[in-house]
Order: sequence, then structure tokens, then C-alpha cells
Amino acid sequence: MRPISGGVCSLCGERLFSPYAFADDGSESRCGLCRRVEPVFTRAAAYGSYESGLRELIHLLKYGGVRPAANVLGRMLREAIAALQDSFPADSVAVIPVPLHRTKLRQRGFNQAELIARAAIKGIAPGRLHLCSTVLERKRETASQIGLTSHQRRENLRGAFRVAQTDAVNGREVLVVDDVYTTGATVSECARVLRRAGATKVWVATVARTLKVSAQQVEIRPAYNEDEREELPDARREVPLARAAGG
Ligand SMILES: [Zn+2]
Repeated sequence: MRPISGGVCSLCGERLFSPYAFADDGSESRCGLCRRVEPVFTRAAAYGSYESGLRELIHLLKYGGVRPAANVLGRMLREAIAALQDSFPADSVAVIPVPLHRTKLRQRGFNQAELIARAAIKGIAPGRLHLCSTVLERKRETASQIGLTSHQRRENLRGAFRVAQTDAVNGREVLVVDDVYTTGATVSECARVLRRAGATKVWVATVARTLKVSAQQVEIRPAYNEDEREELPDARREVPLARAAGG
């Protein structure tokens, strides 16, 4: 479980491979997605890639109910927060864990994002960050996000969250924390309602993030398929035509 290394998008933390993704103006580098659409949040940072050991540790907490895992994950989240902290305002920042719907909360017995956030801010200068776990509410249960496209994820989450205490966010900068950033749909929806409630900036920190696979894998695959098609024997290529002709 090592921190993410190499170039990442300066806004969403996605891994960057293309040299074109890096700054034209020398200041910041953005992934293709953030170049097309400005994120609702100011910046998202994650500690590690959502795979192997880190993924297992998160599952241990979420599905295995092993609460002490939150302390280890909290230390990782603290590092993700540290990457953002220099940009935080001098006064305190409200730390808002992505909430669970009460039904899910009852089933699981705890909100993993809240446990991790609590553990993370323990080691940070007192007073700078304070946990506000009742500011944001999950109004309705949402279907599992697994297997959905990012557009479907956004639709699935629309209207899922509500700011219960507007005073806590109005005119302030807030930090949304969660265990995993997958497509960013969840934290973006949280950021959207928080901004609407008056938050001036929404920062995002997660323990893990799904990252693009290496550029090699991405680039080789289509080229390989092209070659394969070229190499098909003529007879095989003509089979469908012959069949079509024969009715
Ligand atoms: Zn990005």
C-alpha cells in the first residue's frame, strides 16, 4: 500500500500519462475530463490506488466490520489532506464525511467515511479541521453504483443528498471526505449541494482512488486489434458475405 506516484491531474487526482496532459502554461496539469468539464469541487486528493492491499483494507472495515482498520486508513487520509492543506483558509475548515442513508447506517452500524475522517483529523493541528458529520444528509438510498457509467452514476445520485445545517457551510470552505473516489460522482454530487448551500470552496480527500491503467495497455490494445484484423485470411473475411448472399 504505497501512495500514488507520478503525474496526476491537478484537479481530480486522475493518473496522467500523455505528455499533452501536462501544462501548456507550465502551471497545472489536467486530465482530459477536467479539461472538458470543470469539476464542482476545487481539488480532490487521494492517498493510494484502489487496488490490492488498500482495497482489501477498506473492505475489511466496510464489509468485515473491523473498526480498527479505520485508524490505519485514517493515517492515509491524513496524507491526502496534507496535500491540500496549504491551500486551506486560516480559519477552520468543516470536514464533512460522505453520509450513508439511515437504513444503510443501521445495517452497517457505522459510517466508514466518518470513522476514517475522525482518525485522520486526530493528528492535525487542533482547531484547523473539525468534523461535521451531521451537516450533510443522505435523503434516499441509492442503487449500487457498480457497473454504471459515469452519466448513470450522476443520474443515480441526483437529489440523494441534502444540507441539513446550512449555517455550517454558508460562506465557508469545506472538506468532503470518503473512503474511495471511483468516478467522482458521489463527491461531486455532495459538492454540488454544498456549493448551493453557500460553501465557497469544496475540497475532497479520499483514502483511495481508482486510477487509469498504464498508457501502454491502453495504447497497445487497439493497435493489436487492427493488426489482427489485417491478418485474417481472405476466406474467413468473406464468410459472412457469402452467408449473406446465400440468404
Ligand atoms: Zn482531472
